[in-house]
Amino acid sequence: MNKNNQQGPLADGGKLKLAIQKSGRLHDDSIRLLKECGIDISNGVNKLKAEANNFPIEVYFLRDDDIPQYVEDAVADIGFVGENVVYEKKKKVAVVEKLGFGKCRLSIAVRRNEEYDNEQFLSGKKIATSYPVILGDFLKAKGVSAEIHEISGSVEIAPGIGLADAICDLVSSGSTLFMNGLKETETILQSQAVLIKHANLVPAKQLLLDRLLFRIQSVKKAKNNKYILLNAPNDKLNEIIGLLPGMKSPTVLPLAEAGWSSVHSVLNENDFWDIIEQLKAAGAQGILVVPIEKMII
Ligand code: ATP
Ligand code: ZN
Repeated sequence: MNKNNQQGPLADGGKLKLAIQKSGRLHDDSIRLLKECGIDISNGVNKLKAEANNFPIEVYFLRDDDIPQYVEDAVADIGFVGENVVYEKKKKVAVVEKLGFGKCRLSIAVRRNEEYDNEQFLSGKKIATSYPVILGDFLKAKGVSAEIHEISGSVEIAPGIGLADAICDLVSSGSTLFMNGLKETETILQSQAVLIKHANLVPAKQLLLDRLLFRIQSVKKAKNNKYILLNAPNDKLNEIIGLLPGMKSPTVLPLAEAGWSSVHSVLNENDFWDIIEQLKAAGAQGILVVPIEKMII
């Protein structure tokens, strides 16, 4: 008997409850990430929730703005949501892992003909935004006093219709700002989708989350790395191997043609082009670069 009326860790069938965006910019990438983690959920676009048949997880489809609240209240154990929403809502949740998609920035923009030297420009001005909390914190930190005008959508049209002198909005390419005669002057937050969790997950749920995290991290590492195969003349092998970082050390196999070897290794995306150029210069030939699906190290 449980006299505190607490739910046991397996009260809901021991499933990890994950909240993702129902539709919008994060939806497809969230489903894709689950799929890359080997978690197939039946298509739930018109449903509130869906279950995976090969992992103990239940997926809830919600508006992104509601996800931090659901996770704080333990209606969902974890959620995939933009950092911008997490910091705006200020709910009691823990940010566990950056997910590498939904990248954007929260920026200040003003009319293109305006002269903006620094944030003092905003002093006494009216700023339209859907992010009053983050903007308020920014202005406070900079000691600027301005009027924040909260609107929920189409923030970028506010200066054009005389509703505000500036806006604070999410930007990815900047083309929306450009089309509305605005220029970006200040970035106040870099954002991407993150995994958040309830502040006190019961151990059984934490174990499931650890399994999921292990998969997510393997997928992320694989995306940042490429598998490289190349042919090297044996007299250049040492020089070529020296250029390859690899997971441990590269694999070297003799080719049928005497005096040549095949070298296999793993390269980080960031170093990729630099190293390829150096490999070519060192005499490497027949370089093949292959995507990696999962990477367990
Ligand atoms: P919902 O109906 O779930 O409330 P929404 O209209 O608030 O959806 P979307 O426009 O789908 O939200 O954006 C969801 C998230 O995608 C944003 O909170 C942000 O984290 C991320 N994002 C990435 N790039 C952009 C962008 N250019 N503009 C807006 N959001 C972006
Ligand atoms: Zn939203």
